[in-house]
Amino acid sequence: TALSNQISAGEVIERPASVVKELVENSIDAGATQVDVTVEEAGLKTIKVVDNGGGIEPDDVPTAFLRHATSKIASTRDLFNVHSLGFRGEALASIAAVADVTLATATTAGLGTIAHIKGSKMLDQHSEGLRKGTQITVNDLFYNTPARLKYVQSQNTELNHILDIIDRLALGHPEIAFSLKNKDRVVIKTAGTNDLQQTIAGIYSVPVAKSMLDFQGEDNDFRVHGYTSLPDTTRSSRNYISLMINGRYIKNYQLMKAFIAGYGSKLMVGRYPLAVIAVEMDPLLVDVNVHPTKQEVRLSKEDQLGALLTETIRERLGRENLIPDA
Ligand code: ADP
Ligand code: MG
Repeated sequence: TALSNQISAGEVIERPASVVKELVENSIDAGATQVDVTVEEAGLKTIKVVDNGGGIEPDDVPTAFLRHATSKIASTRDLFNVHSLGFRGEALASIAAVADVTLATATTAGLGTIAHIKGSKMLDQHSEGLRKGTQITVNDLFYNTPARLKYVQSQNTELNHILDIIDRLALGHPEIAFSLKNKDRVVIKTAGTNDLQQTIAGIYSVPVAKSMLDFQGEDNDFRVHGYTSLPDTTRSSRNYISLMINGRYIKNYQLMKAFIAGYGSKLMVGRYPLAVIAVEMDPLLVDVNVHPTKQEVRLSKEDQLGALLTETIRERLGRENLIPDA
């Protein structure tokens, strides 16, 4: 079926950031309100994700590490349902195939399960007193796949990929408190107060967040809101504009263009804003024929949303007497 093809087409674990993405998405799916990530050596030595979500029952622990054993799959449409980020049921299996994984999980405070899986082999599972939630520690990623390890880039590059992933997930979920530690240094820490500006502060810095303009707009199908700086010469690309649709970070060239058009052409010569755009819409308006793991997503009413973005920014700058040109 198309669905199973989409599923098997899925990429698996390319680099440390892929592990971080899959584990944190699982924490979000599990209803966590707090997700703490620690990495060492850009994730090649250790990636640890701790959440306070629903946990895994002891009987379900071995199954969770089997390929295509997912508790979440339902339909193609669900691929874009914000309520479930996981859908392929292969992330944990793939991670455990290429690393040394320790899981500690409990569905209620009290008795939980510890499991140790390395190179797909379950080495140990036992019960232990734990707090509610799940902690997964991934050590020695790619220890048994030297070819894969060779494609991993410098620690700096890999760490930047991890930062990108957490930024996006945190911006899409202002209601969840995220932290990222690189060894002992806190790199990202968001409040989880469901306030987008506070989340931006936790990612970029308080002064940056405070200096941004808020904007909002809506029509019959879409509600947009967010924060933007003015375009300036410190940014020469669109990379500092994040677009979230129903909490999911996406890439869409047309929408980006439409957003930027709102600033008028004069402001935009070699300059770009730092911006976070959140769009809420009916999930049915997302074209699901797109490969599920690609971030480039098409919308059936893309032009309409683009026009709303342009108009929202133009109107907001107008209120600040910042109308650049007609
Ligand atoms: P998927 O997310 O596609 O279902 P995964 O391989 O990522 O597949 O996870 C397998 C299963 O393990 C999930 O369906 C879920 O039931 C369980 N699981 C994984 N991580 C967590 C977590 N942090 N908290 C609770 N359950 C989890
Ligand atoms: Mg998953």
